[in-house]
Amino acid sequence: MAEIMEKKITSDQAIALEDKYGAHNYHPLPVVLERGEGVFLWDLEGKQYYDFLSSYSAVNQGHCHPKIVDALIEQAKKLTLTSRAFHNDCLGEYEQFITSYFGFDKVLPMNTGAEAVETALKLCRKWAYEKKGIPANEAKIIVCEGNFHGRTISIVSASTDPDARKNFGPYTPGYITIAYNDVEALKTALQDKHVAGFLIEPIQGEAGVYVPDQGYLKACYDLCKQHNVLFIDDEIQTGIARTGKLLAIDHENVKPDILILGKALSGGTIPVSAVLANDEIMLCIKPGQHGSTFGGNPLACKVAIASLEVVKEENLAENANILGELLRQELRKINSPLITTVRGKGLLNAIVIKPTVSGKTAWDVCLALKENGLLAKPTHGDIIRFAPPLVINKEQILECVDIIRKTIENIN
Ligand code: PLP
Repeated sequence: MAEIMEKKITSDQAIALEDKYGAHNYHPLPVVLERGEGVFLWDLEGKQYYDFLSSYSAVNQGHCHPKIVDALIEQAKKLTLTSRAFHNDCLGEYEQFITSYFGFDKVLPMNTGAEAVETALKLCRKWAYEKKGIPANEAKIIVCEGNFHGRTISIVSASTDPDARKNFGPYTPGYITIAYNDVEALKTALQDKHVAGFLIEPIQGEAGVYVPDQGYLKACYDLCKQHNVLFIDDEIQTGIARTGKLLAIDHENVKPDILILGKALSGGTIPVSAVLANDEIMLCIKPGQHGSTFGGNPLACKVAIASLEVVKEENLAENANILGELLRQELRKINSPLITTVRGKGLLNAIVIKPTVSGKTAWDVCLALKENGLLAKPTHGDIIRFAPPLVINKEQILECVDIIRKTIENIN
């Protein structure tokens, strides 16, 4: 009976409720999802879809991964939250696990991605004053044009996206903005003696999957070292096997000073984020100087351990690497004037759509893909990201390419 009651709502009704009672801060595709498993999602009417967004790379391990869900349920029955006013029996185990997994001395646990970025910015400023000796309130952090690091006031202050910034001022000072994928621009910016850090996405995900030239990240890292500037690596979207290695920065064998993780750290179950650094940096923050009620809660700790174990147990980085190559290779075979570019690394990919003469855009392509059983979302008007869960297999990738090909061929 309860199930019948639950099913009573239709997709149209669910959308109407959101429209009426929710803030209009997103523009979702008109599909209402009620179930997920692995690479698949189902809508309220029972239609099955391939997920080609993975909740912006939070669901790398696949929807409702049994091991992660089991860890969540088991811990939820025992203890969910203690706050950091007291110790809990999961935090130390998790801290030991994640620091050895990524090779850092310490972790600072938070919840959302934006909170972890804020944490990294604060940590960098603290280090600047207490270790580097930058005069009070003079520290600067270099960021890149086109960046996306989240939605807080301080983070949108570092953004160059008019939608993200407009009418949210006054903005937080202390940023220097340079072009992405431009080593010379970084060299110039580093002449400023008050620079404390360089915050960068190793691939710009939200901007539309911009992959910098091979060698760029290493060159930036070396420059940062020369100038005693912290290299802060935002891997919230690119990390945890998405690009074919554990971290996207691993493609260039760089070890960042500060590593920021989120999203897939919980396999898409609950918000879990983390900032990792060595003692020299992390111990600049002392008791009472930073924190979060939920950060490091027992539920998050158990879920994050399970999520990271799944990544290794199921060789997700290797799978992303191999199937990413295959996906781009097959997409490039689609002979259509609509697709002007195919780019990406591992299973973080994008195509760029040229509008048709009749005015069909990337949005129309996504609507048609949805009809054909594949969910993807446009970004910045003409770009469509293709980022399935990393548990996808070869046959499924080929089937998805088939769906994409047929959809593109029928758009006119
Ligand atoms: N940093 C990057 C690189 C991201 O892609 C995102 C989200 O898309 C964030 C930070 C913000 O994460 P959250 O939405 O969990 O605050």
